[in-house]
Amino acid sequence: MVSGESVPVPFRDAGRYGSGVTDVSAPSTVQPAIRPWVELPPALATPPGAGAICDASGSRAIKRGAAEGVFTGGAVMVAHASLTARRLGLSPPPRSSDMLDVLELYAFVRPARFCAPSPSGLALALGRSEPKGAEAQAQALRDAAADLLNELTDPAYPGREDAYTLAGTLDRAGWSWGSRVLAALQAGPLRDRRERGTGLDVWSRLAEWEDEAPRGEAGSAPVDSESARIRLDKLLQASGLDETRPAQSDYAAEAAYAFSPRNEEGRPRVLLAEAGTGTGKTLGYLAPASLWAERNSGAAWVSTYTRALQRQIDRESRALWPDEAERRKKTVVRKGRENYLCLLNLQDMMQAAQLGNGDLIGMGLASRWAAHSRDGDMTGGDYPGWLPGLFAAAPSHQASPANLVDRRGECVHAACPHYRLCFVEKTIRASRRADLVVANHALVMTQAAFDGARSARGQKQDGETAALKRIVFDEGHHLFDAADSAFSAALSGQEAAELRRWIRGPEGRGRRGRGLEQRLGDLCADNEAAAQALKDAMRAAAALPGEGVSGRIAPASGEINPIGPIEAFLVAALEQLRARSQETGGTEFGLECALRPATEPVLEAARAAARAIAAVEAPLLALSRHLEDILDEEAAELDGAARARIEGALRGMDRRARMTLPGWRSMLAALEEGGDEPDPDFVDWLSAEAAFGRIHDVALRRHWIDPTVPLEAAVIMPAHGVLITSATLSDPAAEDPFSLARMRSGAARLIEPARTLKVDSPFDYAANSRIIVVNDLMKDDPRQIAAAMRELFLAAGGGGLGLFTAIRRLKTVYERLGPDLAKAGVPLYAQHVDPLEVGALVDVFRAEQDSCLLGTDAVRDGVDVPGRSLRVLAFDRVPWPRPDLLHKARRERFGGKGYDDALARGRIAQAFGRLIRRADDKGVFLMLDAACPTRLFAGLPPGTEVQRMGLAEAVELTKNFLKSRSDLKCRKPPPRPWPCRRPASPSNCLLTPTTPTRRAWACRRPRRSAGRRSRCSRR
Ligand code: SF4
Repeated sequence: MVSGESVPVPFRDAGRYGSGVTDVSAPSTVQPAIRPWVELPPALATPPGAGAICDASGSRAIKRGAAEGVFTGGAVMVAHASLTARRLGLSPPPRSSDMLDVLELYAFVRPARFCAPSPSGLALALGRSEPKGAEAQAQALRDAAADLLNELTDPAYPGREDAYTLAGTLDRAGWSWGSRVLAALQAGPLRDRRERGTGLDVWSRLAEWEDEAPRGEAGSAPVDSESARIRLDKLLQASGLDETRPAQSDYAAEAAYAFSPRNEEGRPRVLLAEAGTGTGKTLGYLAPASLWAERNSGAAWVSTYTRALQRQIDRESRALWPDEAERRKKTVVRKGRENYLCLLNLQDMMQAAQLGNGDLIGMGLASRWAAHSRDGDMTGGDYPGWLPGLFAAAPSHQASPANLVDRRGECVHAACPHYRLCFVEKTIRASRRADLVVANHALVMTQAAFDGARSARGQKQDGETAALKRIVFDEGHHLFDAADSAFSAALSGQEAAELRRWIRGPEGRGRRGRGLEQRLGDLCADNEAAAQALKDAMRAAAALPGEGVSGRIAPASGEINPIGPIEAFLVAALEQLRARSQETGGTEFGLECALRPATEPVLEAARAAARAIAAVEAPLLALSRHLEDILDEEAAELDGAARARIEGALRGMDRRARMTLPGWRSMLAALEEGGDEPDPDFVDWLSAEAAFGRIHDVALRRHWIDPTVPLEAAVIMPAHGVLITSATLSDPAAEDPFSLARMRSGAARLIEPARTLKVDSPFDYAANSRIIVVNDLMKDDPRQIAAAMRELFLAAGGGGLGLFTAIRRLKTVYERLGPDLAKAGVPLYAQHVDPLEVGALVDVFRAEQDSCLLGTDAVRDGVDVPGRSLRVLAFDRVPWPRPDLLHKARRERFGGKGYDDALARGRIAQAFGRLIRRADDKGVFLMLDAACPTRLFAGLPPGTEVQRMGLAEAVELTKNFLKSRSDLKCRKPPPRPWPCRRPASPSNCLLTPTTPTRRAWACRRPRRSAGRRSRCSRR
């Protein structure tokens, strides 16, 4: 029951409580005994296939039609309005005073605090138990709203004044929660103020960063194995773990090798270490890393592939620095600048929204988050990623990372009024003095490549990354892929349009942004040569594709209208693509074809495009040189702010003029120079990206066949010590289990051979897991796969994760599986279907113990769900690498079919590792592809055994194996709509097992009209 709801004051009749902030100076009219803010409208919960409403008279199930009526018919509370609308088959609703999203209230009341975007997520975030079933969820939603509003009445609620001021602004902007929030805040103490402002100016409440003297080069004091063991023991005690695990201790001792001093330049100490799940490798490497940082006054970098692991390492660093204030100084999570809120962008968007061109409420909530955020990280930090998607809004109006981060490198650095508050600048400075920098592979590689390019020109390294000397690459099995994207080039319509915008600024009406002229015009004003170079660059950039490029090079009407030489090249490239890739699936999923032999129009257009690119590159390089001269020659006159601006501009210019543009030019030039012979080191190809059958971009791409060549040169060799670690690094099927890891990390070419270490997991996989290949399904029939997943997930009572190798199959299975699971009360979520990003989907899946999730690679890599929420993991088919042009070239280079096997084996092992995260986890791993060779399971932990059986047996085994847990409730399968006893034919029937020995068959033909309903009698 919602506290306070017994007070019979109809909220709407009670007036607009405190709807004007100036009213606060008057005594509050709200009587302490009356709590009108919890006079709430009905709460509607719509887990997949079910619906329930909860109002003052309690919670009850309702049918879909009624739920639709509640959703559209008046004031209603929901958790995620867009997702609710989708479940009801409706379009996402716009904001309105009647649509009260409790997640939005959560974002206001508990800014920068985690919550999975569902009624269950809200309940768990508020310390309640997980509500199971639609009725419990509706009740939980109502309780959550009341809890949150009551929280605001607490006199000790932090920052009540700021909250009140902002709530007043949001209320005036029409926020559906506005009046209730104001009323709740008014119930507690508030200061009398004549003017409160808007509360939107978060920058007036943020602390400034302060520079510190440079730390200097890190020392070379070694870390020995024994000290690492002792440090690990201390960390375990600090974490409340008394037991000493010998394997973990050995791991820490061996990891110390990567923190010992190197004896020769270019000969780093490299260790490849596989540590099975449960070894405790994070604390295992944090022990020597923290010792090294302490002894040498340097920063050890830990790099991960996924955000989930970044967060986990950050959490585990509490064992090192239990005091939170100290930990925040010592550990810094560092991402690329395009992840952090740009306050100038926020201010621009807020101003536009105040003039009616944007979502002021969304911006207000983003500003409230910014005031409470640890570091301003919008992608995987403490920003609620679900916030921008709650209501229908134009993408350009949303408070989304895409609009609020500095994605295009438009930062004006010291010319920005918020420079001294800037989250990006704060994080960069914090990482300079931190002991532990937790970064990601992409950032480490791009920064290292950037530094390498500067060093090659004899310039000093960038201050942001000069400390990249000791690196731990966790999730090291992803190093190859991360290097592949970091060291590749793509000349596409969108990329070129981005560059044009970076140089010339936004050219459409009403667009925000800053071009080079706005960023550098005043700095160049007194230097004639610099001003001329700036003008030349602006003029030359007009030849680059502009806004709307896809509509000109691949319009739906077919009437192409390219502007400029690059668009003309892309049109010629598209012609070649269409001519040579007909048989690969048309335009539904995109096209690709080898660049060589290029058609005559492509060759001709490439020449003109290369000239246009050179014409942009030259003035940018000249401008870069002039700015460097200004830094040099006017050193005495330049103040710190001007110097910082020039240095910031040079960083952006270096990236483009010395890396991007030469890369494009060389790809085009290679066409001319290389003739029809492919480059032995690279794969060059043309590709077209498509969505919904329409092409929206065309690209010329170049990837290294072996991206570990630049990885080794730019990252591994210059470092002093590198630890590459993962739970799945070795390949037991190979003669040398670490040969693939060496090859895919660049360690194979090192002069000083890399050491290797393998530590087995302490988990009892033989007892806690089952591995099954289902051998009586036709994997190409999505109905059979859907039916199999349905029976398996139901046998487990939920907690199923379905992994797919293609989005199209995932969607087809989802459509068939969702309704059946819903009938049994098992919610199903799906990547590429539900309007939530992967991280939020995994959060919901983790929060709801009996829900199921379908996903592709990103889910496989990002899912970390210890406990009951994940107990069945099913692959729809063997995750072979996609045989595209790039992979074919690599397969040829790295060992043919054996290379394919090794990759698939690695993927299966990684997915299996997701199933058992704790010693008491139990799970069943299924491959629904009868053709899966047993050799692909060689990477699974020792003691595990692969069983091949039919679906019926697999279902029974799954049910019995998991039922041995006392807390597992098996659910009944959904009723069959019209059972048919006809033996199945692959085209119309699906297997529905009843017992391991006897099989019944249920026909899944579409239901016919009642009058024509027939029963098949054939046996
Ligand atoms: S300094 Fe740059 S990134 Fe930071 S707020 Fe200003 S413009 Fe944005």
